[in-house]
Amino acid sequence: MINLDTKIFPTWCPGCGDFGIWAALKGALQKLNLQTHEFVMVYDIGCSGNMASNIKAYGFHGLHGRAIPAATGIKLANHRQKVIVIGGDGGLLGEGMAHFVSACRANMDITVILHNNQVYGLTTGQSSPTSMKGTKGKATPLGVVEQPVEPCAFALLSGASFVARTFAGTIPESTEIFTSAITHSGFSLIEVLQPCVTFNKLNTYDWFRQRIKPLTQTPTDVYEAISKARWTDQDIFTGIFRNDETALPYHKTFEILKEKTLIQHSEKRDLTKYIHDWVE
Ligand code: SF4
Repeated sequence: MINLDTKIFPTWCPGCGDFGIWAALKGALQKLNLQTHEFVMVYDIGCSGNMASNIKAYGFHGLHGRAIPAATGIKLANHRQKVIVIGGDGGLLGEGMAHFVSACRANMDITVILHNNQVYGLTTGQSSPTSMKGTKGKATPLGVVEQPVEPCAFALLSGASFVARTFAGTIPESTEIFTSAITHSGFSLIEVLQPCVTFNKLNTYDWFRQRIKPLTQTPTDVYEAISKARWTDQDIFTGIFRNDETALPYHKTFEILKEKTLIQHSEKRDLTKYIHDWVE
């Protein structure tokens, strides 16, 4: 079994939902038995991105909101690798919104695990694109005026071929969904409901447990999927809203990539000078 242990324990606040996501992701990678050369992790900036120190794998820690373009570049250089993005609602849906939509539209074959804690945690609690209307915080003392972005509904409308939601407090379910998403060929989004125990006192573990309902079956069409993916005052569904294996991923539309990866097409270039001694 692959050893993912860096021996560095995460610095997240005790009880943070990121611990559950970290555990579920490691479980999924071990279940899939991917070897280190078969996948790359790409991290955005934020509490979620600090996972970079805690998974022993090839990885890239990008700029705020720019994890998806970095992941896209990695995928197109070597499309045989699985590429997994770790980011939060602030980076991926605020600064990185245009990249998020582009990757959905292209059906780029990457997996995006979106830690939705509805707040900018690392910068100590400002409202984010998914904060609920009326939420009071340091930057919004009178309450958030805007409507929240709903990542699953948004991804479905934008053409993502795998869209799911899970909860950081249910590790076995998250492990199953992460496994399916990583296996999926095409863009996969998993919105993880991730309580920020320090700065979000509204959307707590108990608040979610009172509202979460598992989907009994995957919706048959995209409009039903969007309807199930929307949050209501009472219900927040978890599970897989869409899993379309017939949609062609972006890289498969290019003849040139059928036999070789892009990096193999460039094999005459000597890349060894870019490889540092510490890469084993
Ligand atoms: Fe987790 Fe919030 Fe602490 Fe960040 S600030 S580590 S999201 S609990």
